[in-house]
Amino acid sequence: METGQSSRSNDRDNDDGGDVWAKLVPNDSRYDTVEIRSQDSVVCSETMKSSPEKICWCEISGSPDHESARIRNLSSNAIIVDGTVVGEEAVDIKSGSEIISGPEKGYLTYTFQVIPTQNRDVDEKKKLKISLDVEHAKCCICLNIWHDVVTVAPCLHNFCNGCFSQWLRRSSTRSHDPQKSVVCPQCRSIVHSVGRNHFLHTIEEDILQTFSSLKRSDEEIAQLDSCASIKPNLVLGMKRKYQERGLHQFQVMKAVMWSFHVLNVMLK
Ligand SMILES: [Zn+2]
Ligand SMILES: [Zn+2]
Repeated sequence: METGQSSRSNDRDNDDGGDVWAKLVPNDSRYDTVEIRSQDSVVCSETMKSSPEKICWCEISGSPDHESARIRNLSSNAIIVDGTVVGEEAVDIKSGSEIISGPEKGYLTYTFQVIPTQNRDVDEKKKLKISLDVEHAKCCICLNIWHDVVTVAPCLHNFCNGCFSQWLRRSSTRSHDPQKSVVCPQCRSIVHSVGRNHFLHTIEEDILQTFSSLKRSDEEIAQLDSCASIKPNLVLGMKRKYQERGLHQFQVMKAVMWSFHVLNVMLK
């Protein structure tokens, strides 16, 4: 890079939307700040205005968390990083590092600035990271991670749809009045209703994505799915004339209670 020349970042892939994680701020306000977007950014000099030619002068690589970075000189001239003349080797830079774009003073000087995490990845902030013990995501009937999880009320214990459906069938065959005889397989309290739990279903999928060794075989899943009979919310043990009202109340309570239950499970 020649004395007095300025630079631009060559982030072709990210020009339209990648987050800026760092900047090269020139000490001369006549020149533009260079925004660094991609993990490995090549910074090119803007040569003569009449010439479309761009000469690459350095590459800046960020660590995945963008907490540290390295600079590699790509020009035929040396550059000066924090007072040290740098040839072809990559050197560490940190926020505040001074980079002189040539081998001596008089060349344009940039200050490297990492943009604080709280100012980037706005979407990232909306995602809550929760630690969860996978033991709390297991069905007590088959002892595996839930598959197509259903939640029973009022105790709010969770089971695989297939496992609980089989339990329901076995309970029915033991009693003349099947709807009154269903108890929770986990705590033995009377079950009034059961429904598929879509929120816990996403957690079930996330767990299996993270711990693929906990996945069941396709045959086991197919076998379980063939037993699954819980489709819409199913109200048990209520007289018909109360069923509609009960179902409505259950749906209202469900939204509130599951939220508390899920938080409770996660905070244990
Ligand atoms: Zn199960
Ligand atoms: Zn229970």
